Order: sequence, then structure tokens, then C-alpha cells
Amino acid sequence: MASKEKKVEIVEAFGRQFVKGNIPEINGVRCMGCGHCVQLCKKLGPNVFDLIDGIAKVTRPENCISDGACMMACPTKAIFLMSLYDPSSPPNAL
Ligand code: SF4
Repeated sequence: MASKEKKVEIVEAFGRQFVKGNIPEINGVRCMGCGHCVQLCKKLGPNVFDLIDGIAKVTRPENCISDGACMMACPTKAIFLMSLYDPSSPPNAL
């Protein structure tokens, strides 16, 4: 029987530990392009997002530490899911 054991990568940031692997999903209808997530993520270090055509997109998923700070920054709740990043099946934003 195959093992279902999952390898996780732990990253440290802000004096805390996070399980790396999930990236934010951005609802393009709810995003109003305010850039709060872009600026906060850049300020905190990972710098995962860019504004493209007025909508936040995950352009550097490999930088994401999955801390969820962007979810808290979004005034419209456009970021309400984090999902596992699969390089072989990147999100539409890429
Ligand atoms: S904080 Fe929310 S509304 Fe603002 S750019 Fe990011 S996803 Fe869009």
C-alpha cells in the first residue's frame, strides 16, 4: 500500500513558522485593483503579486510562504482561498 505521508517545507518568518506550499487564489471579479495585497506582500518580503491590467495576480508563486497576510489585507475578500501550488499546473495568473 502506498504511503500517504506528505512532505512539508517549514519556513520561518516574522518569528513564526509556516507550512510552505499554498498560494493565494484571487477572485478576479471581486478584485478592485487597490494593490493592498501587492504592497503588503512586497513590504513583508515574499513579493508574490503584481497588478496586471488592474487585477492582482500571483506572478512569483515560488516566493509564497503561505502566511495568508494578503487575505487579511484585501478589503473585498477577493483572496479567500489558499491552494496547493503545483508547478506543473500553474494558476491562470501565470
Ligand atoms: S487587496 Fe484584494 S482588491 Fe486589492 S488588489 Fe489585492 S486582491 Fe485586489
